[in-house]
Amino acid sequence: MKVLVINCGSSSLKYRLIETDTKDVICKGLCERIGIGGGHFKYEVIGSDKGYEKDVEFPDHNTAVDTLIKAVTDPENGVVKDVAEIGAVGHRIVHGGDKFTEATYITDEVMSVIEECSDLAPLHNPANIQGIKSCRKVMPDTAMVGVFDTAFHQSLPEEAYLYGIPYEYYEKYGIRKFGFHGMSHDYVSKETAAIMGRDIKDVKTIVCHLGNGASITAVDGGRSIDTSMGYTPLDGIIMGTRCGSLDPEIVHALVEKTGKSLDEVMHILNFDSGVYGLSGYMSSDMRDIRNAYNKGDKAAIRAYDTYVYVIVKYIGAYMAALGGADAITFTAGIGENSSSLRRLVCERLKGLGVELDNDANENGKGARMISTADSKVKVYAIPTDEEMSIALSTVEVLKKLNKA
Ligand code: ADP
Repeated sequence: MKVLVINCGSSSLKYRLIETDTKDVICKGLCERIGIGGGHFKYEVIGSDKGYEKDVEFPDHNTAVDTLIKAVTDPENGVVKDVAEIGAVGHRIVHGGDKFTEATYITDEVMSVIEECSDLAPLHNPANIQGIKSCRKVMPDTAMVGVFDTAFHQSLPEEAYLYGIPYEYYEKYGIRKFGFHGMSHDYVSKETAAIMGRDIKDVKTIVCHLGNGASITAVDGGRSIDTSMGYTPLDGIIMGTRCGSLDPEIVHALVEKTGKSLDEVMHILNFDSGVYGLSGYMSSDMRDIRNAYNKGDKAAIRAYDTYVYVIVKYIGAYMAALGGADAITFTAGIGENSSSLRRLVCERLKGLGVELDNDANENGKGARMISTADSKVKVYAIPTDEEMSIALSTVEVLKKLNKA
């Protein structure tokens, strides 16, 4: 089945058309600057030169969806003859609260529940909802499925999702750990079991999704049992610009000492912290930090070493939570590409049965094992593919409903 994957932000819309039977990407692209003027459209046809880029004004999301549908159905440069060839649309939705435990077929009722979750992700969910509405307008007869960043973590046990605050705040306001990057953790843990040649039900994996945003998840038998991001994506390990977990009293101290407002301090913790802040505002890009680290730059060494240490601590904690792990898998921009990061982390885990194969780590490509064959805990580097995960989940939902 051909599934159109839509990842809709407030001013941009990323799309990808995937043939799920063969797992081939047919085309992909981006509508930029929606609603703010100076719009730009990108359309790339995989394995062909039919793609193009052009400036297009997108006054709203409807125009963006209209433009991409015209592009994919265009008689000259398109990839399908008719919009009816697109079997379904899979929408990425950031927050499903505790309402959605899996990808869900979108009905009017489901739309209202997604809308209810908007106060948990006020920057993301409204844009995701707009994407669904625009697609429904342009393709009213096509099945739509919502795939949630949070759903994979709905399997967390109470002991992992509760915070040590009065229980009434969980009951009244739903303050709890949700976890994010669910599509990636789900996809990568399945790929890990597949590479190991084992049934996912029997595998305990720690997935390290290390990109600009980053989270680590303990996956037991295909189910998330703990994850480093929390009520929001600010929690957990140090990230490109986000602080990760810290003593909540620090927020109070920063407001008092800097004279900044609470909102300003929260902005600093989201956008000026993490590796960027620790390096003295050098960069949030791990390649820049690593290059400076190699030249002996003190600020870069401070930031990089702290980043590595926090990752090691989470992996250790999740080994304990899982009662021992079979595999540690690195994914996303840094996890997939930075052999030095993987080496520094794994060297510190030697005492826990992790033995890296330096040659496979440095020189290999793509999804592969990077530990020695007799390492007690196997280590993998596996590219994540959130869009493929959305497309495959979309088909699964439709199959269950006998709609595919
Ligand atoms: P996000 O999707 O959260 O924006 P990505 O998964 O694209 O993030 O990861 C971005 C990060 O990956 C950046 O910090 C970047 O420096 C890092 N990265 C990309 N390529 C490499 C590489 N070859 N070596 C080290 N880090 C890399």
